[in-house]
Amino acid sequence: MTTQRPVRQAADLAMFGGGRAVPRELRIKAWPVVTEQDEQAVQRVLRSGRFTSASSGEQEIAGLEREWAEYVGTEHCVAVSNGTTALSIALSAAGVGPGDEVIVPALSFIGSAIAPLHLMAVPVFVDIDPVTFNLDPAALDAAITGRTKAIVVVHLHGLPAELDRITAIADRHGIAVIEDAAQAHGARYRGRAVGSFGALNTFSLNVSKNLATCGEGGLITTDDADLATKATMLRQFGELIPAHGERSYVAHLLGWNCKPNAIQAAFTRSRLKRFPAEAGIREDNVGRLLERLAEYPGFLLPEVPPDRTHAWHILRFRVNPAEFGLADEFAGPLRAVVQRALRAEGVPAAPYQLQPLPAQRVFDGIKAFRAEDFPATLRVLDDSFALQKAHLHPESGQLLARYADAFEKVWRQRDGLAAYATTAAYKPHWERASEIADEEWAAAFPQR
Ligand SMILES: *Cc1c(COP(=O)(O)O)cnc(C)c1O
Repeated sequence: MTTQRPVRQAADLAMFGGGRAVPRELRIKAWPVVTEQDEQAVQRVLRSGRFTSASSGEQEIAGLEREWAEYVGTEHCVAVSNGTTALSIALSAAGVGPGDEVIVPALSFIGSAIAPLHLMAVPVFVDIDPVTFNLDPAALDAAITGRTKAIVVVHLHGLPAELDRITAIADRHGIAVIEDAAQAHGARYRGRAVGSFGALNTFSLNVSKNLATCGEGGLITTDDADLATKATMLRQFGELIPAHGERSYVAHLLGWNCKPNAIQAAFTRSRLKRFPAEAGIREDNVGRLLERLAEYPGFLLPEVPPDRTHAWHILRFRVNPAEFGLADEFAGPLRAVVQRALRAEGVPAAPYQLQPLPAQRVFDGIKAFRAEDFPATLRVLDDSFALQKAHLHPESGQLLARYADAFEKVWRQRDGLAAYATTAAYKPHWERASEIADEEWAAAFPQR
């Protein structure tokens, strides 16, 4: 795509040399917020000399597990080293093993799909609902076979998936539901927190997430005492580690070594005290942004069905070509032009995922990727862009108001941008992703 020929009536857009809607000095505030209390919590651990879940008498990890279970409303919580290992451990504890099929949505973060693959289970990808961006229950039902052992239910961007319909389908077939709530801490479905619906459920504490630690971490929640014990064994070599006293070194199960770290647990406990208040402020800030954007019908805003709440981890916006006076076939090119115009104004609009998960090279040889199996995922990847991080900080209100100004500016210039979209060269993300894969590989391994 080139910009040498600015469309005249759109000349006030920053993309064509006009001023920015978002002043440069208005920066995205660092996430996670680190307070003096957080620092003290970390120092407490450094002075204690107890650094992992295997340290005799360690308190912070057990404390975080207790507090998160209480927050989610489950009997048990097991902390591990990150959200991806949390998912592998949850699947393994649920009995998933080599050759079993595990259903995974076609639009998610790669961790959702490699977790089963590490168990030598086969990820079976299912298309999404283009409005909620979550697993389409009808497509899920059609994908179940005699070998399906579990469903990874991702609450993408923070919106709970269709849990009632999905659990009903799973129950009918005797399949385990595992919620991947890495993006949805605190979101509720029919009054109940996510992470309390599946046999085991997982969260990530990665620095980018709504409940972040100072590094990496993961949490597994369950109501089942035996599954909690198995998850605890699987995080450390399949051993039963006593809270006090001698370790036997007997390995009962094929475990990993992915213990949680006490410093990170203490940091997260400290943050957890502020978490409900922060989530409330975020709800207000995002609510105000969406209220403004609702005035510009060319943007399709994230929808929240009345029976659930959104954790607002990521904001995904689709463009509506009809409102720009364009035919449907220009959805992708229009999105590309709008995204570019917003970025020039100072809004960090960017894709979240370039391709459906099954198109990732790591799954080559498991099943050929067929685009026609994932029309909703492809359409959403093509016609939407995401905002990440900027809205997580409680003091993001002013920044988001300027973002809304940028959307307004872009919307006012819709005719010029629409005309531009019909002539600019265009390549969908997934084609670019394939080229990137080749380029990166060739650069890393030049001899081959
Ligand atoms: C972040 C994320 C994960 C993985 O969590 P890590 O802690 O980064 O391993 C898994 N699933 C989803 C949907 C995520 O967003």
